[in-house]
Amino acid sequence: MALDLETREQLIDTVRRFVTERLRPLEGKVAEDDAVPDDVVAEMRELGLFGLSIDPEYGGLGLTMEEECLVAVEMGRTSPAFRSVFGTNVGIGSQGLVMFGTDEQKAHWLPAIASGELVTSFALTEPEAGSDSAAVQTRAVRDGDHYVVNGSKRFITNADKAGLFTVMARTNPSEPGARGVSAFLVPADSAGLSIGKPEKKMGQHGAHVCDVVFEDVRVPAANRLGAEGQGFKVAMQVLDRGRLHISAVCVGAAERLIADCVAYARERRQFGKPITEFQLVQAMIADSRTEAMAARALMLETARKRDQGAAITLEAAAAKYFASEMVGRVADRAVQVFGGAGYIADYGIERFYRDVRLFRIYEGSSQIQQLVIARETLR
Ligand SMILES: Cc1cc2nc3c(=O)[nH]c(=O)nc-3n(C[C@H](O)[C@H](O)[C@H](O)COP(=O)(O)OP(=O)(O)OC[C@H]3O[C@@H](n4cnc5c(N)ncnc54)[C@H](O)[C@@H]3O)c2cc1C
Repeated sequence: MALDLETREQLIDTVRRFVTERLRPLEGKVAEDDAVPDDVVAEMRELGLFGLSIDPEYGGLGLTMEEECLVAVEMGRTSPAFRSVFGTNVGIGSQGLVMFGTDEQKAHWLPAIASGELVTSFALTEPEAGSDSAAVQTRAVRDGDHYVVNGSKRFITNADKAGLFTVMARTNPSEPGARGVSAFLVPADSAGLSIGKPEKKMGQHGAHVCDVVFEDVRVPAANRLGAEGQGFKVAMQVLDRGRLHISAVCVGAAERLIADCVAYARERRQFGKPITEFQLVQAMIADSRTEAMAARALMLETARKRDQGAAITLEAAAAKYFASEMVGRVADRAVQVFGGAGYIADYGIERFYRDVRLFRIYEGSSQIQQLVIARETLR
């Protein structure tokens, strides 16, 4: 059920203050240390951020999609690594369980996920199955009341901190496509499961991705999510939702960058006046503002549509495609408005430029969003 407007405003205001007062001063340190401090993670737990999307019955806040997106916009106003701390618990790591889990599975796992005591990750991508995610080769072979899982997953966010993985694995080898895939909840401490070293990345330092390797990992059949062969459907429904959440983060990042541009351009003087007085600089700010507003409108409309129970595959793909490309252009203009300072690390703009680059790649690249939008339009 939606929060009343006053409670909703209080929540957004609390997150905004946490971002402004607590997280923004730490942006440089988190990037340099490639880690979010433990006390910040503990404060995120106290604020309930790990349980935004989980029903109050299991200890979460049970936000609507619109409310979750509004929180994600606020989190977008700081380094994306902070949102990643709890992002998988709110989205791709938990939602397979929320949408397809049995009552027993939910009661067993969701309270610890909602509190942040347990971190979850979503393990779909493999070395040979990226955009073509229905081509997963990780195998799950039924053996009595267990499945035996073998294979490897790549670029898995929060794998080094996760206690539980939602894993997509092939249960039917004679069905090479989507219908041969099933989804499983696999505890990180299962025998035979190992995690690779965190990858060195272009940006979003402080958030980690690692390989996850399965060698004869025995997973109870009771840990399967949905029916055999439903795993790809689980993954796609999780991603529809995740894409909308990412588009909200992109909107927040764009609004932050625009505010930074305006503040800097007001102070920076050239040719005897603030650079805000030059219409060519104004044009960059106007273009960024217009695009950010358009992305916000599309994202919110799609979130409301989902809250009304409508299918949003097309709209979520369009929102993610537009918002992630938009924030790339906004970050590029921000470097330009800052001039040389935009290229210098101390100002933080070049860091944002690198951080937002990822949004056009993960949870489906821009090209994959284009294919989804075209498929749904031509249907
Ligand atoms: C930091 C980070 C975090 C991630 N977190 C997770 C995670 O938590 N869980 C998870 O499962 N995965 C995760 N991923 C994986 C991510 O979702 C994939 O990297 C992404 O889907 C692209 O797959 P790929 O890297 O194999 O690229 P490819 O699929 O090899 O794509 C390469 C290029 O080809 C294009 N392309 C591919 N197919 C087509 C086509 N049919 N038509 C047109 N163009 C096409 C792509 O758009 C891209 O430009 C993460 C990745 C990164 C970098």
